[in-house]
Amino acid sequence: MYMSTTVFRGTVILPSGLLPQGVVLVEGERIVAVGPEREVKLPLGATVIDAKEGYVSPGFVDIHTHGGGGFDFMDGTQEAVRVSNRVHARHGTTSIFPTTTTGTPAQLVDMLDAVESVRHDWNVADGARIGGVHWYGPYFATEKVGAHPKGYERNPDPAEYGPALARGIIKTATCAAELPGAVEFCRVARAAGCLVTCGHSNASWPEMAAVYEVGMRHVDHFWNAMSSTDSIRKRLNTPQRGSMAEFVLYHPEMSTEVIADGFHHAPEMLQFAYRMKGSARLCLVSDCSRALDTPPGIYRIGHHETGEPFENNGTVGVLPGTEKLAGSIFPMEHMIRVMMRDTDAGLAEVIRMASLTPAELTGLAKDRGSLEQGKLADVVLLSPDLFVQRTFINGVEFKQSVL
Ligand SMILES: [Zn+2]
Repeated sequence: MYMSTTVFRGTVILPSGLLPQGVVLVEGERIVAVGPEREVKLPLGATVIDAKEGYVSPGFVDIHTHGGGGFDFMDGTQEAVRVSNRVHARHGTTSIFPTTTTGTPAQLVDMLDAVESVRHDWNVADGARIGGVHWYGPYFATEKVGAHPKGYERNPDPAEYGPALARGIIKTATCAAELPGAVEFCRVARAAGCLVTCGHSNASWPEMAAVYEVGMRHVDHFWNAMSSTDSIRKRLNTPQRGSMAEFVLYHPEMSTEVIADGFHHAPEMLQFAYRMKGSARLCLVSDCSRALDTPPGIYRIGHHETGEPFENNGTVGVLPGTEKLAGSIFPMEHMIRVMMRDTDAGLAEVIRMASLTPAELTGLAKDRGSLEQGKLADVVLLSPDLFVQRTFINGVEFKQSVL
């Protein structure tokens, strides 16, 4: 079989640091060598792709994202999945976790069906490769639903999540720890191989401890829609107790994620999260709504008919007529630039938080998440100021012209 050979040249971003004047040698869909240009023997006739003054980066892995290009994954159609995944691929995301939110049981089944069928006959023209579904809604606490569709949140129901998890496509599973049935949900999700996460929750330390016991190890978007010592005291009327924040900061095994769009958090909060958890336990996520790459206006979070209206004001999602946040409208490459601007993390660490760390947490790291020999060639070319120039998935370029 004919195998194409490609050489990516430039400053290569490795998990351990930057490699100036480096090369990544790709044969077919896999990386066969990475090293300094003078040490790697380049085959004759290889296609050379030069990042020039820019960077050769691993493709991004986004474990929390709701859609893009006008579509939300909860629309439940193959078109919604393909358009969203293409728009994210344009911005450098090569592995994506389409994320559910609150909705009817039928809407959730439609979403899983749509993602499954796109994954089944996926090719690079379909955009970012599906790492798995993030089952995020509907098991949210009512007082922490936030901007997501209200009235569709519910307690975990084995009749719903049993068949959903048994499909094998869900790789990340969220539940508010204080809901009745949360422990059993987390146990089943962990047994199904998921990264088990707590989010949209007002849980106390003991409630977190109960789900930690059965495998919960992650909290969705740190500080957003989660408990604080103050919210716990209001809810339980007890002396101050530890909240989700203390639980995550205390336990080295707990990981979390930040929405580093520059609007959800002041710089010191991003710096704090990075300093406290480190780049191996903190992920960057886009948490992007359907408003990615769309003009300002009114859109919906969740299903296009029953979703919650929000306004894309050009920089962030807000509840219409307010300044109350309703999710980001930016892709991963933007989050990377904000982390570089607002924290003292170096470029290799920031990229790790957008690629290898989420890949490790979701079980993808054997094949993806970094530029290492033997892994699939998910490669992004970045300009010196960290804008995505070109995206390659499995060694094949994603052509912007399909958009
Ligand atoms: Zn979200």
